[in-house]
Amino acid sequence: MDLILRNGHIDGQHGPDEPAVDTGIQAGRIVAIEPHPSHLSDLAAQGRELDLQGCLVTPGFIETHIHLDKSCLLERCKSEDGSLEEAIQQVALAKKAFTPEDLYARAVRTLEKSILQGTTHMRTHLEVDPGIGLRGFEGVLPLIREYAWALDLEICVFPQEGLLNNPGTDELMVEALKQGARVVGAAPYTDMDPHGQIDRVFALAREFDVDIDMHLDFGNTPERMDIEHVCDQTENFGYGGRVTVGHVTRLSTTPLELFTTIARRLADVGVAVTVLPSTDLYLMGREPDYNVIRGVTPIHKLLRSGVNCSLSSNNVLNPFTPFGDCSLLRMANLYANVCQVGKREEIRACFEMVTQRSARLMRLEEYGVTVGKTADLVVLDCATPEAAVAEVAAPLYGFKRGRQTFTRKPAELHRP
Ligand SMILES: [Zn+2]
Repeated sequence: MDLILRNGHIDGQHGPDEPAVDTGIQAGRIVAIEPHPSHLSDLAAQGRELDLQGCLVTPGFIETHIHLDKSCLLERCKSEDGSLEEAIQQVALAKKAFTPEDLYARAVRTLEKSILQGTTHMRTHLEVDPGIGLRGFEGVLPLIREYAWALDLEICVFPQEGLLNNPGTDELMVEALKQGARVVGAAPYTDMDPHGQIDRVFALAREFDVDIDMHLDFGNTPERMDIEHVCDQTENFGYGGRVTVGHVTRLSTTPLELFTTIARRLADVGVAVTVLPSTDLYLMGREPDYNVIRGVTPIHKLLRSGVNCSLSSNNVLNPFTPFGDCSLLRMANLYANVCQVGKREEIRACFEMVTQRSARLMRLEEYGVTVGKTADLVVLDCATPEAAVAEVAAPLYGFKRGRQTFTRKPAELHRP
């Protein structure tokens, strides 16, 4: 064994009292999981052994939706009325001054924070348009290789300022897809022809054989929703299981009957949903000055209909999302609070929406704490997933392909 993680909980399904296990790792993979204390002690651990003292071992967190190109911009932008329009306009202004070096430095800052929070997989959404050109894409592209020791990074390119109304954008999207973008995104609500943009994005996805991850239905009312059109096109293109829609805050304002109908349709055609609780809370409900809506779609209710869902950060420290420390557990905790999640199994589902469910969304096959899988792991200072969500448990150790990537020492009391 290269590494043995002793005395850890790997599931916590039956609470903190269930037996602990020893997890053996060799050549980057999990090769043994045995009840603790196990015969693994007889095997020569040539590398390290760690006593986890009952802490939870889980697969690393997955950020399915984060914008590395526009993170850490707060000091350059204002956020006064706090609307989505202001955020887009402020970032559009700041974008003009982006250089590859500046982009790279901000992306590194956010990436490293994410790694320290236990994130081992990330899909980053990057803007391309004639204003920014491919600078965002080219600034982030080298990080895939440079940070492969800690995190698998994939790029989704999308037209934040419109596609059909913004000449030159389509060519840049095509160029980024040729140069290695693995996912194609969209923001139809900024286009003069939202359905036209959606249709073009499906055509690009088919042409380059890439998955789709769209920003969609970002607003305060149930009017002008595009989600049913996305479902229709997912069916027409045979793209079930390869399409995700993010935000869909309008869905949080629909009456239950329509919500249920859309939930069934999403499940039937295989469209996943990502909610970005921090951004959605900050940008939505800006019109009334009392009795303000939350604007966070209750995706734990979509799970009941069989829809796959994930929770993600979207942004940190910019006009879309002024707050954040790249902790996906904090997002799960925030979501559970805002959406009033109380049942034990639904609190667990919040944990799964930053782990297993996100893995399914990104179609990661090498994911999970089972023998044979890649050892992309994080150790949390708690015994169960429910406790992790409830307490925003501290990530103590991270591992990528069996190699330790970070250590966080537990806080220590100095008694008199
Ligand atoms: Zn986004």
